[in-house]
Amino acid sequence: MSALFPTYARWQLEPVSGEGALLVDSSGVTYLDFVAGIAVCNLGHCHPKVNQAVKEQVESLWHVSNLFQIKQQEQAAKTLTDYSVLDKVFFCNSGAEANEAAIKLARKATGKHKILSFHQSFHGRTIGSMSATGQSKVHEGYGPLLSEFEYLPYNDENALSDAVDSEVAAIMVEVIQGEGGVTPMTQAFADKLKEVTELHGCLLIIDEVQTGIGRTGTLFAYEQYGLSPDIITAAKGLGNGFPVGAMLGKEHLTPYFQAGSHGSTFGGNPLAMAAVNAVLKEVVTENLLEDVKKKGKWVINELIDFSKKMDEIVEVRGKGLMIGIECKHEAAPLVAALREQKLLVLQAGPNVLRLLPPLVVTNEQLEQAVEAVKNVFKSSTLLTQ
Ligand SMILES: *Cc1c(COP(=O)(O)O)cnc(C)c1O
Repeated sequence: MSALFPTYARWQLEPVSGEGALLVDSSGVTYLDFVAGIAVCNLGHCHPKVNQAVKEQVESLWHVSNLFQIKQQEQAAKTLTDYSVLDKVFFCNSGAEANEAAIKLARKATGKHKILSFHQSFHGRTIGSMSATGQSKVHEGYGPLLSEFEYLPYNDENALSDAVDSEVAAIMVEVIQGEGGVTPMTQAFADKLKEVTELHGCLLIIDEVQTGIGRTGTLFAYEQYGLSPDIITAAKGLGNGFPVGAMLGKEHLTPYFQAGSHGSTFGGNPLAMAAVNAVLKEVVTENLLEDVKKKGKWVINELIDFSKKMDEIVEVRGKGLMIGIECKHEAAPLVAALREQKLLVLQAGPNVLRLLPPLVVTNEQLEQAVEAVKNVFKSSTLLTQ
């Protein structure tokens, strides 16, 4: 009997080592890992430069309080702001914490409380970030939620126009809904977000926890829509597995996050920052992002072609290496069948297969994975016919 709370339906698989897109389990079986710790290990398992940076930092200094100067944290913040439209950074330890910081800052800066978010969104498990999440299954049993969140249909310009008024502090949104089914924002919706936030002076908060750090082919996904958010949040891929989160905000928000107004004991400590600096260096200075776009296009086109012959597939969608395959039926049996084929993938909602390979996945590995996906769809239709 496990002494853990059973908050996860765990697979009977125990990974013990990994390299790049490969994961080895306790019985020596090698898998192609398109889960990547849920969009965390974007540079693959045990990336040599990230490993080296963390090892070196372990030997010199792990942790000091944020009451001290932390050069590594200044450097990480400089890189994040140099490569985004944001100007200031607050470091924390997870995506939920980053969103929590965003909610607090938006309330304080605007003096208003109402925040609009969207059906099928996911923003985390703390009371605040859970309240922002537009999925009742996440809320169940935990009420009352934080007040004044309102959930709107995603990609619905009219519903958005109707809901925004001068009482709204902020709109919080994912550019591609991850947990909710790998649903990309439409350009028309992005344009409307821009219009209403400008018109009513409310803040635009973009949750880039899953889409950020190169996952979609740009450092952050908002770049691909011509958006200029006031706040973005990041976490998952930021430390390549080292737990770390960040909230980035525009200059005009600086007065509202002064000394004593927010904090985190661990947030931005030298060890976490060693990982972040090594990750960012790889993601922004190599040809990695162009490569992610190319690889993503190839996979998506292959799967779209295949879907034309395959009734079971409703739609193939995504950007970069964040790819969803919506199925007519439940995706769970396909996930299990792919695991048998030594390919690890996730679900996003009941009917969507989600592929999140490390960004460093090789072309050969992508070909293998696409082949496995095709085979599993073929044999699953044979079974249902
Ligand atoms: C995973 C995720 C979160 C929560 O991040 P944690 O680190 O688990 O707290 C928030 N928003 C999005 C979009 C996510 O995918």
